Amino acid sequence: MNSYDVMILGGGAAGLMCATEAAARGRKVLVMEQSQKPAPKILVSGGGRCNFTNLHAKPANYVSTNPAFVHHALAKFTPKDFIAIVKAASIPYHEKKDGQLFCDRSAKAIIELLVSRGESKGVTLLLGQKVEEVVHADGSFSVKSNGETYSAPRLVVATGGLSWPQLGASDLGFKLAQQFGLKIIEPSPALVGLAFAEKEMEQFKDLAGIHLRVGVSCGDWKMVEDIMITHKGLSGPVMLNASLYWKPGQEIEVNWVPEFNVESTYEKLKKDKAEGGRGKFRVWLSERIPRRLAERIAWNAEARGAWSALSDERLMALAKAIHAYRFIPADTFGYRMAEVMRGGVDTREISRETMEVKKVPGLFFIGEVLDVTGQLGGFNFQWAWASGFSAGQAV
Ligand SMILES: Cc1cc2nc3c(=O)[nH]c(=O)nc-3n(C[C@H](O)[C@H](O)[C@H](O)COP(=O)(O)OP(=O)(O)OC[C@H]3O[C@@H](n4cnc5c(N)ncnc54)[C@H](O)[C@@H]3O)c2cc1C
Repeated sequence: MNSYDVMILGGGAAGLMCATEAAARGRKVLVMEQSQKPAPKILVSGGGRCNFTNLHAKPANYVSTNPAFVHHALAKFTPKDFIAIVKAASIPYHEKKDGQLFCDRSAKAIIELLVSRGESKGVTLLLGQKVEEVVHADGSFSVKSNGETYSAPRLVVATGGLSWPQLGASDLGFKLAQQFGLKIIEPSPALVGLAFAEKEMEQFKDLAGIHLRVGVSCGDWKMVEDIMITHKGLSGPVMLNASLYWKPGQEIEVNWVPEFNVESTYEKLKKDKAEGGRGKFRVWLSERIPRRLAERIAWNAEARGAWSALSDERLMALAKAIHAYRFIPADTFGYRMAEVMRGGVDTREISRETMEVKKVPGLFFIGEVLDVTGQLGGFNFQWAWASGFSAGQAV
């Protein structure tokens, strides 16, 4: 009764996609989901509207210690393929910006779509099944849940990442990876705000709520996008993306006026000084960034005394405070606030064509549990769909 061709642990984005593809190939498929409702993360995604893909998704949008791994799956199942499924279900959507596609209405439509596609192919979806353990013997995987035993010769681990534990994220995927001798790339929260250390906390905490467009760089990575000052650190799309590249102890650089740079503003400051007056410069800056922020970052760097007496070093320090403000975050805001997890099961031990573990035939890992993390903007769902599709064609 309880034997299947394919058992999928986790009824989220990747698991449900994989289930439908496998069932469409005639497989008898069981999905076991710990929550009482399927795909709880989809429901909260994109502010409740689910940014379900990105028109421009490509390998460069992903972070992994094995970057070549994503190419095959992303090419095999593209944003266009998922859009075709959404269109066929007449779910209204729109492009918000930069290729980011959101539902016009609730993200629930995407969950209903994934579940109904599965049902139409005969997928069995069991909810409220928190799987704790998997036994592998004689080529078969078996799982005990709520007093029943289920078994299948193929097992797909689609248990997601560690972010948002309030929705029941679990580390089952890591436990299974270890059980089967796979390496884990140290996980950490990503697509999350970065917390101020004490000095920046003093400098910025009363500016919470200010948001503006800035340039941010972290090592070789850089981006111009919106930032938000919060009471405990910096957030907003640019910082969320920065968190994907940031490592503890590393410096972040902010250009508060990204249309200009240190050199151009230094030259301007020298000219303003020669023409005699700080007023002109203050107006220039206040027209470009909120005045309270301008006061905090620039006026402080200006030093007291006559404007005409400011040394070139002082003018350079002022230009740097505006265009190359550097700080070392104390930490991220943590998994409770993070949209995703960076790191995960090492993909070097997984087939990039099928997602099957090379040394354990029949065992597959898909979605966020793997060491593949997308930037902000629909890339993580595209990875869930693409990796789920690849495995679904192979299980
Ligand atoms: C607040 C928020 C907003 C987001 N917004 C977006 C967005 O707009 N666009 C985007 O691309 N990405 C977004 N993401 C990221 C995206 O949700 C994930 O990358 C994606 O859901 C990963 O798919 P997955 O199937 O690998 O994991 P999940 O969708 O997390 O699915 C894993 C499933 O496994 C289940 N599970 C875990 N452990 C067990 C167990 N022991 N037994 C049984 N079941 C188990 C979980 O309950 C879960 O349903 C957002 C994430 C968050 C937290």
